[in-house]
Amino acid sequence: MKPLSKNIIIALVTLVILSAIFSSYSLSGDKPVDVSMATVVEEIQNGVVESLTIEGTDVKVTLKDGAQQVTRKESSNSLSEVLVDYGVTPEQLKTANISVSDRTTRSYIMGVILPSLLPLILLIIVFWFMIRQMQGANNRALSFGMSGAREMKDIKQKVTFLDVAGAKEAKDELQEVVEFLKSPKKFADLGAKLPKGVLLMGAPGTGKTLLARAVAGEAGVPFFHLSGSEFVEMFVGVGASRVRDLFGRAKKAAPCIVFIDEIDAVGRHRGAGLGGSHDEREQTLNQILVEMDGFDPNIGVIVMAATNRPDVLDPALLRPGRFDRRVILDLPDINDREAILQIHAKNKPLAPDVNLRRVAERTPGFSGADLMNLLNEAAIRAARRNDTTVSQEDTLDSIEKVLLGPERKSFLMNKEEKKITAYHEAGHALVAHSLPNADPVHKVSIISRGSAAGYTLKLPMEDRRLHRRAEFLDDMAVLLGGFICEKETFGDVTTGASDDLRKCTRLARELVTRYGMSEGLGPRVFGESQELVFLGKEIHDQRNYSEKTAEAIDQEVKLLVDGAIETARAILKKEKAQLDKIANALLEKETLEKEAFEALFV
Ligand code: ADP
Ligand code: MG
Ligand code: ZN
Repeated sequence: MKPLSKNIIIALVTLVILSAIFSSYSLSGDKPVDVSMATVVEEIQNGVVESLTIEGTDVKVTLKDGAQQVTRKESSNSLSEVLVDYGVTPEQLKTANISVSDRTTRSYIMGVILPSLLPLILLIIVFWFMIRQMQGANNRALSFGMSGAREMKDIKQKVTFLDVAGAKEAKDELQEVVEFLKSPKKFADLGAKLPKGVLLMGAPGTGKTLLARAVAGEAGVPFFHLSGSEFVEMFVGVGASRVRDLFGRAKKAAPCIVFIDEIDAVGRHRGAGLGGSHDEREQTLNQILVEMDGFDPNIGVIVMAATNRPDVLDPALLRPGRFDRRVILDLPDINDREAILQIHAKNKPLAPDVNLRRVAERTPGFSGADLMNLLNEAAIRAARRNDTTVSQEDTLDSIEKVLLGPERKSFLMNKEEKKITAYHEAGHALVAHSLPNADPVHKVSIISRGSAAGYTLKLPMEDRRLHRRAEFLDDMAVLLGGFICEKETFGDVTTGASDDLRKCTRLARELVTRYGMSEGLGPRVFGESQELVFLGKEIHDQRNYSEKTAEAIDQEVKLLVDGAIETARAILKKEKAQLDKIANALLEKETLEKEAFEALFV
């Protein structure tokens, strides 16, 4: 609405200016003196007239001294006739310089027609502005169909494989793609078909986007980057047209890489979702499939896509000839974590005491993005301490910050709450310390972080891919350690244990339904994919077992939890003295590091 009101103001100003011009026009010149025809005749005869100008029935007289006069004649007679009738001789008539002006018609137009046309003109101006504006919107609507893909050719921010730590297998696999892109002809001459699509799969933050950019950087080819969600707009059909445009541009720029990030946004199982955008998504996906089939593989366009949900992708995307190469990115192991930390520590001045290996040891399960974030937090912490280098303490503190949220020193607990929290955490720590299959305790604290009142940090000795049943059982006991400890010590329980209970129950359920580790139900899996598409099709086949089995599952879960409760309770009863020792140490020092904690056991 704003530009419109601006236009109206412009129109009003135009109106004012125009009317000013008109009024000055009709007022222009000195007012001539009205005289009679006889006077004029006399003047002509005296030879003082410079010229006569006829305007309709008006006769304007200009005297030699510059004075202006006006007189009137009948419209039917010509001026010379009238003058001759008055007795002016033809010679005198010649000196009078008679001319006829069309001023009448002009002033008629200016004075009568224009003012009545003015509102119309104004209206036309306003409409013109409005139409122009709408055309602007139209143009924008048309450009919706453009892919809007960002093309990256910038050498400065070029990423290479050197910027990607670890992920050795993935890099090997992609090296081949780099070679295809560098010299597509070499492969074509041998009759080899280049791969069309490469699908990068891996947990969030494992470096999928980074790796795709590194491939483009290594090959030195244009890189068209578009996120899956960018295809989906308000209007149906936009996505498909964007896909067409994107591939059109890519084919012209070949060899090049088209990178569709987060492809699960458009590539979900067709027919798996309800809701508005779902038709649009299907059309977009169909168009991607059509385009991928449509181009000759040897022109050198390689489509890369990334997703962290390969399980929800439409099978049509995965069949040969489309994304037939799949590269899996795992969470980094300890060596990769150290390498990633080294890459991101490059531009940060580290204090000599910093040992990135120790940071890597303490961060199992962290992704590349988490590690980057960790070092960033450490640098921020160092800056806030007004230090010029990042210390080891900065990095270790940042691990907990990334894991559990920021420390909340202002979260003040009263004495009683503090005592309950101390016993709760001591319970976790003691059970963890006593059970052979639980991860060792690295730190216990009753300083609240994030939403937790206190925390016990347990870390595995090494990265593990396989987990044994005994570990799960011990983990459950550790999780319940806090709850049982509160109950045994104070005879009552608090809400502080709710998160522990949720985790423990879920673990028990997974043991029964996913891992087939329960004794009663044996090696069977219950319930299909856990996909949470809103009202999606997965909801129907999620529960593929009978009511009776559901009861049996609940029974088994209860058995497992009861077992864990017994384990925890037995330990806490037997080691009551040790428990008090830990709790008191916590109340006194608030935080116990690994060494201090272990020293309490001698
Ligand atoms: P995603 O897999 O979610 O696409 P990104 O590629 O966006 O993850 O990674 C996020 C950031 O994490 C990267 O910009 C990079 O700085 C860092 N990162 C992730 N993995 C690695 C790695 N292997 N080496 C170096 N940095 C990494
Ligand atoms: Mg990404
Ligand atoms: Zn707890």
